[in-house]
Amino acid sequence: MTNLHINKNNKLITLDIKDLYTNLPKQGINWPAKHWLQQTNISQEESIQIILLINIIMEQNYFQYNSQFYKPQKGIIMGSPLSGTLAELYLQRIDKDFIKQWLDSQKIKYYRRYIDDIIIIYDKDKTKGEHILQNINNIDTNLTFKLTSEYNNSINFLDLTIHREQNMMELGIHRKETSTDTTIHNMSNHPTEQKNAAFRYYINRLLSLPLTQKEKEKEWINILNMAHSNGFSTEQITKLKTQITKKTKETTTTNKTKTWATFTYNGRYIRKITNIFKKTAIKIAYRTTNNTFKLLTSEKQTKANLSGVHKLTCNTCKGAYVGQTGRTINIRYKAHIRYIKTNNPQSAYALHILNNRHEYGPLDETMQMIKTCTKGRYMNCWETMYIQEYHQKDSLITEQEPMEHNILFDCIHDTARTYDNHGLTTSQPAQGRQRPDQPSTT
Ligand SMILES: [Zn+2]
Repeated sequence: MTNLHINKNNKLITLDIKDLYTNLPKQGINWPAKHWLQQTNISQEESIQIILLINIIMEQNYFQYNSQFYKPQKGIIMGSPLSGTLAELYLQRIDKDFIKQWLDSQKIKYYRRYIDDIIIIYDKDKTKGEHILQNINNIDTNLTFKLTSEYNNSINFLDLTIHREQNMMELGIHRKETSTDTTIHNMSNHPTEQKNAAFRYYINRLLSLPLTQKEKEKEWINILNMAHSNGFSTEQITKLKTQITKKTKETTTTNKTKTWATFTYNGRYIRKITNIFKKTAIKIAYRTTNNTFKLLTSEKQTKANLSGVHKLTCNTCKGAYVGQTGRTINIRYKAHIRYIKTNNPQSAYALHILNNRHEYGPLDETMQMIKTCTKGRYMNCWETMYIQEYHQKDSLITEQEPMEHNILFDCIHDTARTYDNHGLTTSQPAQGRQRPDQPSTT
């Protein structure tokens, strides 16, 4: 594009197809597919079979939302690896049948499409942007194009700002207003390769695009600013740039087949192990566990890692102690026993056993989970409620002090008793019992 000679009559526009994937007609894929199959040396019979298969796949478009199933009337299959190819087949047919003749007539000088984004350079003496839009919108009723005209001789296309000079084009990097410039922070416990990845990409783009010197300098400052706001120093990024420049010059053609192995990255010390593979044909990829997905989705509770409110009974008087644990019930049990053995009155349970010379029992007989939940506000609330409950039934060990009486808990008890004869008032473990998870919903 930067080699293109233009004159003052040339204008830039971009066209964007509105919701391409959801607007493509299901049956509409047939004709372009047939058309392109005819260009190959695939037999008639095979062509028919391929079309049939495409149609079967196209019919598999459905999704679930709020436990309802939906099947869209039109649109290309969502999430299928075939979708991109099918949309491309559809649009290439349009390029070939319509755009080509406009180019031949020289009404438009330049046309490029990247999926649903199009850039056009036209001659303002021969046509107008609005005419092009009108014509292109008439091609196919399923497709709606949106026009953007140049402003101050510039237009944004994909990640580029294209600027029209006297008789040539100049490129700059375009960042959307929604771009956040956030990368993995330098302080994050991630392998350097991953922390550098974003900057590697930006620097590669900077080095490979035919940018003007001025644009190159501007982009380099952008990269440095981004680096600074994510905790990287100018030196680090400059070093990376030198590395990349050197590597691109070397044009490495060593295409040895390498096997990849994955290691979980916990910290820099993992390299003590992975460095062993440095001179082997095994390449190391790092997997991190501190990602956003892990942070946002709570860990599934397995039997081994149950956290929640538990009850620990005294083997002698059968009095109950109610406590909470954010870790496993085993760890909590061991802590109580340790307190008893070391004469440490830190837990009310240990105090009870020690003061009364009562006996504690084995874990599986004396300790029960009464409410599984994750540590925090909910767990505190459940704990207080069970303490009150056992206190009211007079089955709480006297060493454990109940909180101030909460009338709301009584309310929950009463409601629960109405729905469930066993209610909350039995000393049965709560596991397996049908009970809503939050007090407010009972
Ligand atoms: Zn006791």
